[in-house]
Amino acid sequence: MSVAIVGAGLTGSLLACFLARRGLEVTLYERRPDPRTGQAERGRSINLAISERGLDALRRIGLVDQVMADALPMKGRMIHPVDGPLDFQQYSAGGDRAINSIGRGALNNALLTAATAAPGVTVEFEHRLVELDSQAGRMVFATPSGKVSAEADVVLGADGAGSAVREQLLAEGVVAEEVDFLDYGYKELSIPAADGEFALDPGALHIWPRGTSMMIALPNPDRSFTCTLFWPAGAFDALTDAQSIDGHFRQHYPDLLPLAPDLVDDYLNNPVGVLGTVHTLPWQAHGRTALLGDAAHAIVPFYGQGANCAFEDVVELDRCLDDTGGSWARALPLFEARRRENTEAIAEMALANFVEMRDKVASPVFRLTKRVEHA
Ligand code: FAD
Repeated sequence: MSVAIVGAGLTGSLLACFLARRGLEVTLYERRPDPRTGQAERGRSINLAISERGLDALRRIGLVDQVMADALPMKGRMIHPVDGPLDFQQYSAGGDRAINSIGRGALNNALLTAATAAPGVTVEFEHRLVELDSQAGRMVFATPSGKVSAEADVVLGADGAGSAVREQLLAEGVVAEEVDFLDYGYKELSIPAADGEFALDPGALHIWPRGTSMMIALPNPDRSFTCTLFWPAGAFDALTDAQSIDGHFRQHYPDLLPLAPDLVDDYLNNPVGVLGTVHTLPWQAHGRTALLGDAAHAIVPFYGQGANCAFEDVVELDRCLDDTGGSWARALPLFEARRRENTEAIAEMALANFVEMRDKVASPVFRLTKRVEHA
């Protein structure tokens, strides 16, 4: 039984590790060159908050200790008002539970290395899916040396929010999609280590709630922080030079300025990312082609759950294969039946959490309510 996985990101690489344990012949096709030999893309979500949902999947393939060795536990959020003192709000009543800041690149590389070491797994880099016949399992990839055809018994699209597999299924008329773009974009900024130390408390997820805009910062193992500024998409264009950038941050994020010496360079050179929610129906066709992770149900990042949720997909698909005796034709619809309600719930919660993070966390009523909940 041969399985093609399109996309060797977080979902695809993890999926390859799980499927290899079933003795399947797995080929991972990835449009990029091997990320372990190149540089990370500039300004693309350098770190991720990984929670127990994601750790559970890593534990099942024996990778959790390796990944957690570099993780930075964040036990609460640290609110940065425009003026006044910082406010730390712990995530759990006892203050003992945390979400973990983990480097996206390191996590992806660890998963890829585990996948390539697994028996029966082959990885083809610089293979971009451009054509798919979902009923026959036939694929065409654009590669540096021209177009290459391939076939597999099962084709799994783990190729992210802009999924080419989903696009092909749409063109065939076997799935429908709705993409709700948020009227907000995001830009990454950086806070380097100061004299070799973290410039902010590394035990917290930092939030600068500003109503229509919001910034967050997560710690990195090299003692820097990566900040993500969320703002109505067109608003970014208003700041075009050092003076306007400096003036804006001095007014709205005054405590950031002394910590971010590369602010102007980051602001002018890092791209503005788009945010949206992907709804696809159904996620599978013909019992042999299916979508997982962001390709099926990308969500906005405000709950920090997209990758965690994608990891849960992989665990659930594996469970469905167990429960159907390895029948893909039965496992794929079962996977969708079991997962859809959960992914729709987290999509809604992620949107709701945006309002909470950019606005409510700073309100005295919210803080009081949280303290009563924790008491
Ligand atoms: P992707 O990570 O997008 O990977 C898809 C892979 O497919 C890529 O390697 C790509 O190169 C490849 N590919 C694409 N097209 C093709 C093609 N045609 N042929 C072959 N290969 C192809 N989630 C969390 O859990 N916690 C967080 O804190 C968090 N923070 C986030 C912050 C931001 C700003 C954003 C935007 C997202 C965040 N997420 C977070 C969500 C998380 O990034 C995604 O849910 C996760 O990356 C999904 O993984 P994936 O493998 O499904 O897709």
